[in-house]
Amino acid sequence: MTQSTTLPAPLRLLGRLALWQQILIGLALGIGTGIVFKADALVLAPIGTLFLNAIKMLIVPLVFVSLVAGITSMQDSAKLGRISIKTILIYLVTTAFAVTIGLLFGALFTPGEGMNMVASAEAEAKQAPSLISILVGLVPTNPVTAFAEGNILQIIVFAIALGVSLNLVGEKAAPVTRLFDGLAEAFYKLTDLVMRLAPFGVFALTAGVVGSHGAEVLLPLAGVIGVIYLASIVHVLCVYGGLLALLARLSPLRFFRGIAPALAVAFSTSSSSGTLPISIECARKNLGVSQGVAGFVLPVGTTINMDGTAIYQGVLALFIAQAFGVDLNAGQYLMIILTATLASVGTAGIPGAGLIMLSLVLTSVGLPIEGVALIAGIDRILDMARTTVNVAGDLMTATLIGRSENEIDSDIYNSVNKP
Ligand code: ASP
Repeated sequence: MTQSTTLPAPLRLLGRLALWQQILIGLALGIGTGIVFKADALVLAPIGTLFLNAIKMLIVPLVFVSLVAGITSMQDSAKLGRISIKTILIYLVTTAFAVTIGLLFGALFTPGEGMNMVASAEAEAKQAPSLISILVGLVPTNPVTAFAEGNILQIIVFAIALGVSLNLVGEKAAPVTRLFDGLAEAFYKLTDLVMRLAPFGVFALTAGVVGSHGAEVLLPLAGVIGVIYLASIVHVLCVYGGLLALLARLSPLRFFRGIAPALAVAFSTSSSSGTLPISIECARKNLGVSQGVAGFVLPVGTTINMDGTAIYQGVLALFIAQAFGVDLNAGQYLMIILTATLASVGTAGIPGAGLIMLSLVLTSVGLPIEGVALIAGIDRILDMARTTVNVAGDLMTATLIGRSENEIDSDIYNSVNKP
């Protein structure tokens, strides 16, 4: 980063640090500011909104062009099929692990025991859309509408179809393929520029969230918050760290350092869709994952792979059962694993989406949905943890697949100086 000598000394010092270090400092300062200034910290909100707007601006065009460019870089359709199957398999298996860990921690620490569950408001159960309507809705009748509405799943389907068609056309479509390549590079560069704002954006967003959640809101539910954070950390370190070390024979430490900027942005924005541009950048620049794999695995993961949300649903299902004195049988446990896995697939990568899906899981086993109202007040704090896990899970999968397909540059992955 270029330095101006006119900058004050602390800023100059900060500028010399790697971006991921600057972002983590922003995060820590944001937490501190929120604690000290409480709701007054919300004056910083416009800085956070500016940063959020800048990354949201990137999502639709970046997903589209990087997916098309990713597919056209994999001319071999057998390889594309193999990567798709592996991606979905890893996503499902890690999600099932996540719900199980959530249930295990909920059973072990019993955060709901002795709780005085008086619902402060009525919560309505949301209707789950049927599988058929989800599948039919995947294909956009008008791609322009899908772009305008930011319907990521439809954009993914359209981008895959266009990418495969470009491959099938071959030579005649070469100029278009090159155009997408060039556009993808331009959007990566733009992401790079937006990321310079990240330390400030993360600082402002975190200060606002911490400042607006006083101790009086958090303390009564500190137990369940603690259990969800603990289960999330265990899942990330053991399942992700374990898979990377054992299956891919890659250093988990290098992985976590490489994805630190994406984790900090996920934590402060509570949106895995919003974090997608940064995730793609981290995968390519810090982990050395090829554009093809990163451009395909990450957008898909952002929409369907939500391990953090699954952990949250596992813990909360048990928490609410304990608080209402409901004993669950083995069949109900299995039902929670199944519905929480499916619900996490259907959860959108936006703030608060997991809370809506929670009512689905609760109704599937006959638990009182008033529990949702109780959780609503602290949901943002839980959302920060689950979004961070969701993003880490997508990046871990991209790394595993990159490794198994020889689409990872080990020199970049193992380099000590991450940008
Ligand atoms: N906010 C989460 C995400 O973007 C989804 C959720 O609410 O569980 O990944």
